[in-house]
Amino acid sequence: RVLNAPAPDIRETFYVFGTLLEVETHGVAEPQARQAMARVGAHLRQMHRDWHAWNPGELESLNAAIAVGQSFEVDPGLAKLLQQGRELACRSNGLFDPAVGGMVEAWGFHADTPPTGDPPADAVVATLLAGHPKMTDLTIRGTTVRSSNPAVQLDLGAYAKGAALDLAEEDLSAEGITDAVLNAGGGVQVLGDHGSRPWRVAIRDPFEWGVVGAVSLRPGEALHTSGNYERYFDKGGIRFSHIIDPRTARPMQGVVSVSVLSNNGALSDAAATALCVAGEKDWPRIAAQMGVSAVLMIADDGSMVATPEMMARLEAVEGGFPAPI
Ligand code: ADP
Ligand code: MG
Ligand code: MG
Repeated sequence: RVLNAPAPDIRETFYVFGTLLEVETHGVAEPQARQAMARVGAHLRQMHRDWHAWNPGELESLNAAIAVGQSFEVDPGLAKLLQQGRELACRSNGLFDPAVGGMVEAWGFHADTPPTGDPPADAVVATLLAGHPKMTDLTIRGTTVRSSNPAVQLDLGAYAKGAALDLAEEDLSAEGITDAVLNAGGGVQVLGDHGSRPWRVAIRDPFEWGVVGAVSLRPGEALHTSGNYERYFDKGGIRFSHIIDPRTARPMQGVVSVSVLSNNGALSDAAATALCVAGEKDWPRIAAQMGVSAVLMIADDGSMVATPEMMARLEAVEGGFPAPI
């Protein structure tokens, strides 16, 4: 047995939040890694059950209670997540707002299968808009949650993955893991620097097979990308994505993808969604308000813009490079 051989990276994959979630540990022996993975896996499955927007579970029960004006007792983990969601929603001027579940459902995105491809009738959209659901309608006292607005239907999809990866990182740390990479459909987060060989993450080019650049993640960083090419339907030459503009109750238009790098997964994830909604003109203001400074946006016309901080971090990969703002 070789005593000083580096421990191999150990990888496990979980299927949660409608995506494959991959965890890879570095620098620890297999038994410790497997034990940490078991803890992460159990926690992820619990989050998946509790936070699911349309399967039976805690969130669905809470939504049912909200719809009839009743208060509901939630798990402390969900209460904390909702508090975090409310703060992020305020900082985004409501462009990210997990209270818009009714709108997401009306556009057909509350299903495991792709949407039928028929936009809801204008009257339905008008009703959804008039309901004006928002996180500030919620009262969260300890673990008791109530909404003053029955139009609120919670959908945590825009920050749940980031929040889940944050908690998975905490689990790994508690198990003595100091080096790991966590990857879930459009979001990558790291603990440590892979033994001085930082994990390098590619940002996909939404128009072509290839990437627009790569970022070497520093310990504790989280990079999340949202866009109109993951879940959508096309009708009459228009792309309808699963990212809803709460100001119109319709899918956002004009943005193909936004990537956000920060030190917090929930923040990166929520901001990526909010900046898609904010659009080409307003996103720098919303980004500043949300406290994110490393952002890359790709618009419908193929233009790419990045903040100076993102520019400084982007490494060229076979061509394509964004213009500075
Ligand atoms: P992905 O699911 O690909 O990571 P996002 O992080 O952008 O993409 O999350 C999109 C999901 O968030 C939608 O499927 C929907 O459930 C929910 N959602 C859509 N629009 C909004 C919005 N404006 N604010 C908060 N949540 C939203
Ligand atoms: Mg998001
Ligand atoms: Mg996301």
